[in-house]
Amino acid sequence: MIMGFNSGLDIERSYYAATANPSPLHAPLTGEVDADLVVVGGGCTGLSAALHAAERGMKVVLLEGGRIGWGASGRNGGQMIVGLRKGAAELVKLYGRERAKALFDLAFEAWGLVLEMIERHAIDCDLRKTGHLVCAISAGDMAWFERELECLTTVMDYPHMRILSAAESRAAVDSPYHGALYDALGGHMHPLNYTLGLARAAIAAGVTIHEASPALRVDRRGGIRVETAKGAVRARHVVLAGDALLHGIDTKVESRIMPVGNYIVATEPLVDAGEVIPSNAAVSDSRFVVNYYRLSADGRLLFGGGERYTPSPPADIQAFVRPHMEQTFPQLKGRRIDYAWGGLVSVTTSRFPHVGRDGEVYFAHGYSGKGVILSTLAGKLLVEAIAGETGRFDLFKGLNPMPFPGGAALRGPLYVLGMLWYAMRDRLKH
Ligand SMILES: Cc1cc2nc3c(=O)[nH]c(=O)nc-3n(C[C@H](O)[C@H](O)[C@H](O)COP(=O)(O)OP(=O)(O)OC[C@H]3O[C@@H](n4cnc5c(N)ncnc54)[C@H](O)[C@@H]3O)c2cc1C
Repeated sequence: MIMGFNSGLDIERSYYAATANPSPLHAPLTGEVDADLVVVGGGCTGLSAALHAAERGMKVVLLEGGRIGWGASGRNGGQMIVGLRKGAAELVKLYGRERAKALFDLAFEAWGLVLEMIERHAIDCDLRKTGHLVCAISAGDMAWFERELECLTTVMDYPHMRILSAAESRAAVDSPYHGALYDALGGHMHPLNYTLGLARAAIAAGVTIHEASPALRVDRRGGIRVETAKGAVRARHVVLAGDALLHGIDTKVESRIMPVGNYIVATEPLVDAGEVIPSNAAVSDSRFVVNYYRLSADGRLLFGGGERYTPSPPADIQAFVRPHMEQTFPQLKGRRIDYAWGGLVSVTTSRFPHVGRDGEVYFAHGYSGKGVILSTLAGKLLVEAIAGETGRFDLFKGLNPMPFPGGAALRGPLYVLGMLWYAMRDRLKH
C-alpha cells in the first residue's frame, strides 16, 4: 500500500541513490516484540526520535515501510534553510514578538542540531556551508525582503542576512533576478547520506530497525500495539513519522497534511559549474511554486521545479522539469540530464508543521518544504515530550494547523484550486 503511494517517483533513478554511502539492509519485522517506543517511519523525523530516545535509555524499534531514506528525507533538494516556511515578519504578525522569536529560535536551533549530528556522528554527506539565497522574480519582492531583513535583525536578533542588489545576486548565481535575500548560514548537503548517517547513529545507540515493514494498524487498547503484515510491536508510546506517506493509519492526524508531488533533475557534471552558481549557495526563487537548485559535490546542477496539480507523477519527469531549468539558465539549454526523480512534499493549511500528541501517539510532519533541518529537531522534541519535558514541544504543538476542509476526501481538489490561484499570481508577477 505504502509502496504504491510513492510509486512512479523513481528514487532508484535519483542522483542520491546512485551516490549513496553503503548501508546495510534491515530485515522485516517478524513476530511480536516489546519496546518502550515504536517509531513508524525511517526518515529524519523518525530516525532522530529513535536516536534521541535510545540515547535516553529507551528500548526503541523503528518500522520503515520501504527502505531507510526512501521518503522525502532521501530525495529532497538538500537545501538547508534556517527558519519556518513562513517568513519572520509573518510570524510576528501572527503570534506577536515574543512567541515569534521563541519559534524562530527553535528553528535556528534545528540548524545547529543538524550540524552537531553531522559532526558528532561523522556523517559524510557533502555538507557545504555556502549560504542560501532567495532570489526575487519581481521588483516588488525586494520590498518584502527589506521588511523581512528588518524583522530578522531587530526582533529575531539574527544578524546573518543581507540584501543583494541585482548585480550582486547575478555574481552569486548567473541568472537575472531583481536581487536576493542572502543568509550566510544556509547551505546544502546530500540528504540521503545524511539520513543513512542518522540511521547508523541510531543503530549504534541501540535502535532496532526493520525495513519493508509497513505499519498497518495502531491499536491503542491497553497500551500501544503497532501491527505489520508479519509481526507487531507492543510499546508504551508510538511516534508517527510517516509524513506525506502516512496513509490509512490515523485519519485525524492525516487530515492536517496534504501530499504534493515535486520533481528534481540532476544534469551531467558541468565543466562550467563554477560560472553557473559562483557562490555555490543553495538557491530558491520567490515563486509560490518555488524553483530551487544548487550544485552537487561533483558539479551537477540539481534543479527542482514545476507545478503539478494531479496526484500522479508526470510520465517523463525530465521533460517536465527541463523547461523550468532552461528558463532559469538558458546557457544550459540542451545539456544532458543524468537523473530525474520526484517525491511527495507534505504541506499543511498554514504551512507550519503539525506537531503534537494524542494520548501516547506522538507525531510531527507537514514541514511544507522546509523539513531538511526542522525534521531532526522535531524528532528530538517528540522525545523530550515523551520524557515529560514539554516546554519546547508545546511551542511547536501550539502552531496546530487546521485540517484540510473536507478531510482526506476533499483536500485534493480544494488544494488544487488554491495552488492554481497562486501559480497564476506568480505568472502575473513577471
Ligand atoms: C522533492 C522534495 C524536495 C524537497 N526539498 C527540500 C529542501 O531542499 N529543503 C527542505 O528543507 N525541505 C525539502 N523538502 C522537504 C523535506 O524533505 C521533508 O520535510 C523531510 O524530509 C520530512 O522528513 P520526515 O522524516 O518527516 O519524512 P520522510 O522522509 O518522508 O520519511 C517518512 C518515512 O515513513 C515511511 N512510512 C510512511 N508510512 C509508513 C508506515 N505506515 N509504516 C512504515 N513506514 C512508513 C516512509 O516510507 C518514509 O520513509 C523536500 C521534499 C521533497 C519531496
